[in-house]
Amino acid sequence: MTDSPQSKKLQPGKLVAATHNQGKVRELRDLLVPLGFEPISAGDLDLPEPEETGSTFEANAELKALAAAKASGFPALADDSGLAVDALNGAPGIYSARWAGESKDFTVAMEKVNQALEDEKAADRSARFVCALCVAWPDGETVTYRGEVEGELVWPPRGNQGFGYDPIFVATGESITFGEMEPERKHAMSHRANAFKLLTEALL
Ligand code: IMP
Repeated sequence: MTDSPQSKKLQPGKLVAATHNQGKVRELRDLLVPLGFEPISAGDLDLPEPEETGSTFEANAELKALAAAKASGFPALADDSGLAVDALNGAPGIYSARWAGESKDFTVAMEKVNQALEDEKAADRSARFVCALCVAWPDGETVTYRGEVEGELVWPPRGNQGFGYDPIFVATGESITFGEMEPERKHAMSHRANAFKLLTEALL
């Protein structure tokens, strides 16, 4: 992780979106294309998916970005993100994808979150999405930025836009879930957008 001022800049051109998650590829593409980048996904390049062995969002973003930059020879952007629920001490957190199981079924993951809140008899349904974005260069340099968006969890899930836990998350000040929200509106306020703002301020 590097604090600003950041001397190394990112030149518009080819940039690997170091993720195999189609929802993230779509969102990163929406953020990158207007800035003149040509995102290539890790899946398109057939890059292996590194194991996420870090204990923080930042560490996992860094290991994914570095693996993609070194394997491809292009700068790479990786996202590690997840849902942190206050009454569950921050769970599922860095394990957000794993709560969906082998079949990556987020209906199951959302049910698990809701069940855990019911088991805790939690009145507090506050939660946040967290995103660490890391840019890595093939020479091994990395910079990482973190964005968050605060909100509350609702049940049952609502809406079929977005991905992952979007149908149960209502951002503070909103009445509809991220799953019901037009993508442009989510992209203007999301954890990923907030991290991306910091990244572009420093690197472009
Ligand atoms: P990872 O970063 O690949 O470990 O996966 C993060 C997981 O967090 C995703 O698979 C989603 O389940 C969840 N997640 C991250 N960002 C979002 C979002 O914007 N909306 C809904 N779920 C998200």
